[in-house]
Amino acid sequence: MIKRKIVIETGLGEARDKIIRSMDNSIYQVSRVTRLIDDLLEISRIENGKQTYYFEKTDISKLITQICESYSDQIAAGGIQFSVKLPESFVIECDSFKIEQVISNLLTNALKYGAGSPIDISLIEETGHARVSIKDGGPGIPEDLQSKVFERFERVTPNKTVSGLGLGLYISKQIVVAHKGTIQVKSKEGVGSEFIVLIPKTQA
Ligand code: ADP
Repeated sequence: MIKRKIVIETGLGEARDKIIRSMDNSIYQVSRVTRLIDDLLEISRIENGKQTYYFEKTDISKLITQICESYSDQIAAGGIQFSVKLPESFVIECDSFKIEQVISNLLTNALKYGAGSPIDISLIEETGHARVSIKDGGPGIPEDLQSKVFERFERVTPNKTVSGLGLGLYISKQIVVAHKGTIQVKSKEGVGSEFIVLIPKTQA
């Protein structure tokens, strides 16, 4: 009797694990497709001059904390060493939804292309700007291709296993420029990449 019960429980456990795995996979696929559709819609808005910005006082330090928290499961599952250095509070004038899009995109890329290497995020004040840095220790980007990554549909690393359309950095650059800021990459092959975003504290 007891033996039979154990057999049934084990069978159910396996079925449950299979269902959870398949649901995780479905959620991942849906989020990938959602991101691709969002990127294409954003491109269409940019090209038609229909992007609208809602500037408001935003604590970018808290925003980055929330973004990092939303990635915590993925970071833990990948066993990635993750360091975040932020001041307690740093208020700037920005479109928080759009700046979240930029930082999420840079963090997604560090996870996608960083090959499991440590990721460091920092926020400091620099000459009247919020300076956000997202750094990985992945394969890096060859010097002659670094300026290309901000162009539309440009994918420069020959990693076919990583999905993407080559739009995230183009969109990020449009958003940062609309904030009168800058985005740049510093990268060395075999060492890693650092993306640096500067956003002015005020939009006046
Ligand atoms: P996608 O990730 O969809 O290809 P992006 O515009 O976000 O589009 O990135 C453009 C290209 O820049 C990527 O295809 C990749 O080749 C390169 N890239 C971006 N971030 C990194 C990174 N952290 N390390 C190495 N290569 C990167």
